[in-house]
Amino acid sequence: MHKKMKPAVLLFACFAISLQFATVSSSTSFQFLQDYKESATGRTLKQMPEDAPEVHCSRERSRAAWKIIEGYLMPFVEKERYQISRKCRLHPDNDLYRDQEQHKIHVHENEWRCGYCKKVFYEEKYLDQHFDNRHYNLLNVSSSRCLADICGALHCDHVLDSTPRKSKCNPAAAARNKHLCESLAGNCFPVNEGPSASRLHEFFLRQFCDAHTCIGNQKPFSGVQTKQRSIFYVVISIVTLMVLPLYYTFVYMYQRGIRRGTQELKRITKIVGKKKPH
Ligand SMILES: [Zn+2]
Repeated sequence: MHKKMKPAVLLFACFAISLQFATVSSSTSFQFLQDYKESATGRTLKQMPEDAPEVHCSRERSRAAWKIIEGYLMPFVEKERYQISRKCRLHPDNDLYRDQEQHKIHVHENEWRCGYCKKVFYEEKYLDQHFDNRHYNLLNVSSSRCLADICGALHCDHVLDSTPRKSKCNPAAAARNKHLCESLAGNCFPVNEGPSASRLHEFFLRQFCDAHTCIGNQKPFSGVQTKQRSIFYVVISIVTLMVLPLYYTFVYMYQRGIRRGTQELKRITKIVGKKKPH
């Protein structure tokens, strides 16, 4: 009896799950169609652009590279008040997608607006597609270079995947990346350009190039605080400063309460003691 029941129960469960899945996907697609028709048109256009130049540069990896430059290098370049030359591949002008990325307006979690034409999209990837289809003419393909090409030197994979991969270290690849990294340090911060350039040169080697090795366990961006990390520390110290006085007031009040309690107890025992002889 039980054996016969099992397949029927399983079948019913499968049916229920598939039904649920269908309703969920249809409701999301309905919402998607209702609120953000633009992204759909953007997608259909993807097959259409005939005069759009073919760009062989990953937008995602370029973005990762820029994130690293912005977070782990620029604060120090600004601190030194150093002007990166246009010949340096880290210069914002050498990022093919910089202008488009600066025209992304993240209104809130599910709303991305195109800064050129104000169209709204549900997700960042649809805005990316819109840029590819509608605003490709704004890409400076002729003079700009692809930031994704220096991803190897900048450790983009650290930013791209949240789970660290435990792949075997490839000595040849590590050597190649180190070479690229050192040439970036040399071009962007030439040591003969003064003390701040040579300080930044040294810093760049420590921050990015030293970790390109299969020996030891050197991690990139180590030894220096990033913007995000320092903000984290500021928040933590503010919270501690707020909590500490509260804690001490509580302790003080508690002890005062105990003291008053014992004093009252003494008074009561005194009164009782005085009354007893009578
Ligand atoms: Zn637009």
